[in-house]
Amino acid sequence: MHVRAVPALLFLAATAVSAEPVTVADFARTHGLVPTRDPASGRDVLKGNSTVVVSPGMSLALVDGRVVTLSEEVRVENGRTVIGGDDASKIAALLRSQPLRVPEPAPAPEPRVAPAPVARKAPIIKQTPVARAGPGKFRTIVLDPGHGGVHTGGKGARGTLEKDIALDVSLEIRDILKEAGIKVLMTRETDRHLAPEVRDDLAERVEFTEKADPDLFLSIHVNWAENKGAQGFEVFYPRAGCEGSASEREAGRKMAEQIRKTFADRFDTPDRGVKEAGYYVIKNAPCPAVLVELEFVSNTTGERNLRDDGYRSRLAQAVADAVLQQSRR
Ligand SMILES: [Zn+2]
Repeated sequence: MHVRAVPALLFLAATAVSAEPVTVADFARTHGLVPTRDPASGRDVLKGNSTVVVSPGMSLALVDGRVVTLSEEVRVENGRTVIGGDDASKIAALLRSQPLRVPEPAPAPEPRVAPAPVARKAPIIKQTPVARAGPGKFRTIVLDPGHGGVHTGGKGARGTLEKDIALDVSLEIRDILKEAGIKVLMTRETDRHLAPEVRDDLAERVEFTEKADPDLFLSIHVNWAENKGAQGFEVFYPRAGCEGSASEREAGRKMAEQIRKTFADRFDTPDRGVKEAGYYVIKNAPCPAVLVELEFVSNTTGERNLRDDGYRSRLAQAVADAVLQQSRR
C-alpha cells in the first residue's frame, strides 16, 4: 500500500532551491511543534498549534489536514527527515499563529496557587492543566479496524483490501487520540482475524469491548457496492433494541453526526449521512457505538483516494478530530 517512487530527480531538484534545507526536528523546534515518527508508515508528524505530516519520498505535506505541494521531495539523510528550505517557508506560512488557539495562560511563572510551601500538610489540589484542551470526557475508547487476517472485507478493482485500509487509518487515529490523552484499546493492531469464522470474529470484538468497558466503541470500515458509481462516506449508530441504553444509543448518534459533519466539511465526496443499523458489533456493544464507512473501495475514485497516504491521513485526522470534539463537548 505504501508504494513510493524512487525520486531520481531528487538531487537535481535540490540544486535549484535557494534556501537551505532543514531537518524536520529543527523545523519543529523553531515553530513550537513536537515531532514524532510513525515507524510503520515512516511519516513524521509534528504537533502543536498546527499538525504537519510529511512522508519521505513524497513531495507534499499535510498542514492541518490540507494538502500542500512541495517543490522537493521530502528525503532522509543520516536517519533524519529533511525538507527543502523553500518548502519549510511555505509550510511555516500556513501554520496557525501561536496566540490564535487556546489562549494558553502565558508561559509566565507557573500560575500555581501558593507556591510557597506553607508548613501545612494541605493536600495538593491537582488542577487539571487548563493549558491544552485536554482529552475531554472520553477516557477509554475501543477502536475496531474492520475485518483482518482471512477476512479481507471489500476489495477494489486494483486489489485494495478493506482490511488494510481500515487498519492503516485506525492506527493513525489511535496515535492522534493517544497523544490527546485518551486511552485507546484496539481489537487488532496487525493484519489478523480474531476468529476464522466471521460470526465468532465479531463476537470476539464485542467480548473485547465488554471487558474494556469503554466510553466509545468505534469501528472503522471501507464500503463496497455492486454499483460502481456508489461513492462517499456514511456513519452508523445502533438501531433501537441494541445492547446500549437509550442514552448510550443517543450518544452514539451524536458521535456519528459529528463524524459526518467533519467529513462533509473536509472531503469532496458524497455525504451519505448518518444512519441506524443493526450491524453486529455496534448492536452488541455495551456503550455508545459508531461504525464509519470511510469511502467506497468499489468506486474508481474512492479506491484511488484510499490508496493515497495523504488522503488516508486526512481521513484519520477527521475521525480523530470529531472524536475529540465530541469528547470535549
Ligand atoms: Zn467492512
